[in-house]
Amino acid sequence: MKLIKIDTGNFMVDGGALFGVIPKAMWQSKYPVDNDNYCNLSMRCLLVDTGDRKILIDTGAGAKQSDKFFSWHRLNGNDSLLKSLSNNGYHPDDISDVILTHLHWDHCGGCVYYDDDNMPQVTFKNATHWVSASQWANYEQPNSREGVVYFPENMRPVYDAGLLQLVDNNEEILPGIEVRLLNGHTQGNLLPIVHTPYGAIAFMGDLIPVAPSVRTPWVAAYDTQPLISIEEKRLFLQEALEKDITLFFEHDLYTECCSLVQTDKGIAINDVFTLNEFIREQP
Ligand SMILES: [Zn+2]
Repeated sequence: MKLIKIDTGNFMVDGGALFGVIPKAMWQSKYPVDNDNYCNLSMRCLLVDTGDRKILIDTGAGAKQSDKFFSWHRLNGNDSLLKSLSNNGYHPDDISDVILTHLHWDHCGGCVYYDDDNMPQVTFKNATHWVSASQWANYEQPNSREGVVYFPENMRPVYDAGLLQLVDNNEEILPGIEVRLLNGHTQGNLLPIVHTPYGAIAFMGDLIPVAPSVRTPWVAAYDTQPLISIEEKRLFLQEALEKDITLFFEHDLYTECCSLVQTDKGIAINDVFTLNEFIREQP
């Protein structure tokens, strides 16, 4: 099994929104912030190559939304989904499965692109696209908070092509890959846990977007049900500590992975390391 990080570019968010009710005096020393109060976030996806299957977890922002929309989010960086795949020796047609944690624009935008005639095309036309049934329902009929972060053009063409596979339960959807359904950040947010020869690694998505958010009360203002987020995070961290599950961060520009330790103040980060170090350091 090969594990490869796929950098798809960065975007910026307001630090107050990222850290929710936590005062800036507490978080500003933990994550870099600029004079406009923006924090830079990666959109770091994960490719799991089992030999038989090439499984991509999340696809970044893509390029379909308006320049105005992207300018609010200050897209930056030199990486893109297709460039990163190509640099690692993969063609979009090689991808057999795409697991989408959820359908907010910065997680699924890469699933569809506009061709030279401005027609929508599915990027991974040989791939089964895994989404939770409750997230799909939320995407189709968004609530008043999330309507602005879902775009029909990001996933409708996938559905129309018959490539959507809905998940209803916590289950092993592919050999070695289980998903958990969460509801704090958004309804039916998937937490993928990959069981590898190097140990288990969990794809944090927006459950714990950046390393400082390991602290259980540090929940983003974006979360639709913050009390549920706190409880889901608490339960996951306890399990990750007990089972020695490594955390892989999608959005932390500066930290790829971490391990956990129990302290007097609760569960905290033990070591931080890159995905390549995770692979190398294991037997
Ligand atoms: Zn999200």
